[in-house]
Amino acid sequence: MTATDDMLAANQIYAQGFDKPGLPGPPSRGVAVVACMDARLDVYRVLGLGDGEAHVIRNAGGVVTDDVLRSLTVSQRKLQTREVVLVHHTKCGMATFTDDEFVAELESDTGQRPAWTPGTFTDTEQDVRDSLAAVRESPFLLHTDAVRGFVYDVDSGTLTEVS
Ligand SMILES: [Zn+2]
Repeated sequence: MTATDDMLAANQIYAQGFDKPGLPGPPSRGVAVVACMDARLDVYRVLGLGDGEAHVIRNAGGVVTDDVLRSLTVSQRKLQTREVVLVHHTKCGMATFTDDEFVAELESDTGQRPAWTPGTFTDTEQDVRDSLAAVRESPFLLHTDAVRGFVYDVDSGTLTEVS
C-alpha cells in the first residue's frame, strides 16, 4: 500500500458520508487565502473554514508568485472574492536554504537552471510584508483594500498579524 492507496481508501469513506452537494463555486465568505504548503498548517482548521467558503492557494513558502497573482486575479474577477489573507509560519522549510544554493544544486544535478526563483527567505515577517506589497501592487486585482498577512506558529497554533 502506498500513501496514495491509503488516501483513496479514506476517500471512499468520505464519499459515503458526503453531505454537501450543490455548493456554489464562488466562495461564500468572499475570501482568498495564500498559504505555505507546510504539512503542519491545516488552513481550513486554523481559520475555521468549511467547504465552499474560501479559495486556498498554496505553494512552498506561501510566496506571492506570478502564478499566485494569476489565481488571485481569477478569484476576484471571476469568483467574486474581495479579501486576501496571507499565511506564512514559523519553522518554514523555505528559511533553511538559499535561492543560490538551491539553484546551484539543480544546475549541478541537471545541467539546467530553473526559469523560476525558489523564493527562499530569512526573515519571515519581512517576507509577509513583501508578499502584502506584491498583492497590493498588482494591477490586475479589483480589491486590494482588505489584504492582511499573518505568521502562524506551528508550535502553539496561534496567528500573529504582520502590519
Ligand atoms: Zn513553509
